[in-house]
Amino acid sequence: MKAGLYIHIPFCRQKCRYCDFYSLGGRQAVPCEYIQAVKREISRWPGLECKTVYFGGGTPSLLTANQAEEILSCLNILPGAEITMEANPESLTYEKRAGYRRAGVNRLSIGVQSAYDKSLQSLGRLHTAAGAADAFRRAKKAGFDNISGDLMIGLDNYTAREMLDTIDFLKNRGAVHISAYMLKIEKGTDFYINPPAHLSDEEQLADFYLMAREKLEKEGYHQYEISNFAKDGRYSRHNMIYWQLEDYLGIGPGAHSCINGQRFHYPRDLAAFLNRPQTVDDGKTDADEYIMLSLRLASGLSVRRLAEKWGLKIGPHATAKLKVYRKNGFLTFDGDSIKLTPKGFLAENTIARDVMSDLYDI
Ligand code: SF4
Repeated sequence: MKAGLYIHIPFCRQKCRYCDFYSLGGRQAVPCEYIQAVKREISRWPGLECKTVYFGGGTPSLLTANQAEEILSCLNILPGAEITMEANPESLTYEKRAGYRRAGVNRLSIGVQSAYDKSLQSLGRLHTAAGAADAFRRAKKAGFDNISGDLMIGLDNYTAREMLDTIDFLKNRGAVHISAYMLKIEKGTDFYINPPAHLSDEEQLADFYLMAREKLEKEGYHQYEISNFAKDGRYSRHNMIYWQLEDYLGIGPGAHSCINGQRFHYPRDLAAFLNRPQTVDDGKTDADEYIMLSLRLASGLSVRRLAEKWGLKIGPHATAKLKVYRKNGFLTFDGDSIKLTPKGFLAENTIARDVMSDLYDI
């Protein structure tokens, strides 16, 4: 079975104030028993051939180079596979980077978020802008040329200047890929209980998004997904597997999988994961997911694929709405693909819902 493999490392030194990922704060290292549990779960899939491997978290860069190698060496990885490690600047020593590189990791995704220290502090991040710059410099010295940086938009007292400076920061440090996300206040986080005093409103967020996209395109980062931009075709091949509904296996507490259209996940429970966990069935993928995910992509929603794979056609009411969207500059249609424009991406949920509400069997 050829698939993307996601390995979740649910440990962090400190919980960030906005974070709702399954991760446990106050951890300095990844326990050996966790590595053994990951290997045990991987061994349940003897025919697995990895098209991509993605260490996500949590803070995967808490792994030692030996631990990363121990996991990678028990995998059957296809030639040329993308192997990504998410990394927090403060946990990336030079030795670790070089060790990851030797173990086979060929892409780093560095959680920068902002080039302003006051924002990093407010988010509860442990690094500074200088630390992030150092992480890039050392990663390049260790031989990484495929480096992504995260940018978070709409922080406390946010300004266009901060956003543009952060894009410049990432560009000047050599990022070939940038993920630009809006800050969302999620239930169960510290920000949910104590929200920042001066968050951007919806209109400001929309302006920031359009401005970021324009700047990124101008700097040679082409948008291939609603929040993701890449230079020279260095898009995230692993994340494309999710968005294109291809097969992927997720290992670790809270990790999700989709194999042959069947979705399942591990419960968000470290103790259960360490003790022979049962996965939870999430049902089959469906056309609604295809519509939601494909409209996020610059390549758009193919009406031909909707017909061939799902046996569905868009009905007259939705078609009429889509024509109005097209007239108002929210999307283009070339006879097969419905592609959202930058303005359309801001209304992606509404447009997707309009399509989903009027489908009929062919
Ligand atoms: S480092 Fe990442 S996973 Fe860990 S708490 Fe912060 S945002 Fe969450």
